Amino acid sequence: MKKNNSIQKPYRGRFAPSPSGELHFGSLLAAMASYADARHHNGSWLLRIDDIDQARVVKHSDQHILNTLEQCGFEWDEKVSYQSQCIHHYQSALEKLNQAKLNYPCTCSRKQLKALSDSGIYPGLCRHKIVRDSDDKNSAIRIKVSSEHISFIDQIQQSYRQKLSQDVGDFIIYRRDNVFSYQLSVVVDDFQSAITHIVRGYDLLDSTPRQIYLQQLLSYPQPQYAHIPLAVSEKNLKLSKLSQAKKINCNLNTLVLAAHFLGQEMGQNEVDNIDDFWQNLISNWEINRVPRMEKQVIIYP
Ligand SMILES: [Zn+2]
Repeated sequence: MKKNNSIQKPYRGRFAPSPSGELHFGSLLAAMASYADARHHNGSWLLRIDDIDQARVVKHSDQHILNTLEQCGFEWDEKVSYQSQCIHHYQSALEKLNQAKLNYPCTCSRKQLKALSDSGIYPGLCRHKIVRDSDDKNSAIRIKVSSEHISFIDQIQQSYRQKLSQDVGDFIIYRRDNVFSYQLSVVVDDFQSAITHIVRGYDLLDSTPRQIYLQQLLSYPQPQYAHIPLAVSEKNLKLSKLSQAKKINCNLNTLVLAAHFLGQEMGQNEVDNIDDFWQNLISNWEINRVPRMEKQVIIYP
């Protein structure tokens, strides 16, 4: 018997796009993989709009994303949640972390840090500094990391580990511009929604140990993780960075292309319409078939 009691819980998956533009092919892949995996396991699938960083929000893009998902045949459970409406949850998590006495204010500017090191690993400058009250308002909050390895088994990428003290350094949980960090908000959101399985893009693989660390400090259960390869153009550009990463066309061809990218065995001849497509994909879905790689070239029409 495995000790992990999360296996007993009903499967709850999610897709959490940021409303910074239209749904592009790269985000369709994450939506499809998380959806198919959830439905294959008779699980729930939730939608969350990651709009914590209001400065990056493009007006109405949340609605565009939801419309596109609907046209593609996705069906979500429960009410769509918005990070901007969950600030009180992040606040209480921050207070809980404060009690652990692992937080400290950091007044370093990006420029200062860049001058010290190019690695992006925070050298811990403010760890022992006494910050004056006047500085306080203008500071970020970092969390002290430990020198223990954090390792987990990704369902696609397999074993992954980091030593946060070496690979990341003390990281920010509350930004200088008064925004809760991505790392903290995502951990709190997934806990609040009782998410058991997270299927998302490879670009977030190296954030996962930080998120597991926060889960441990907050006594949250740890979800299962699976990171799908990123779709890149022939010139090795991430699709989200390309101008051609505009709104996808929700037709059968696009969906079949995405399913092939995810390594799923499905021929276009077998399906005539979007409903057939989903039925076919969900019943035949196997996460083991998703290629174990960081990125894969896609030739998107
Ligand atoms: Zn600092």
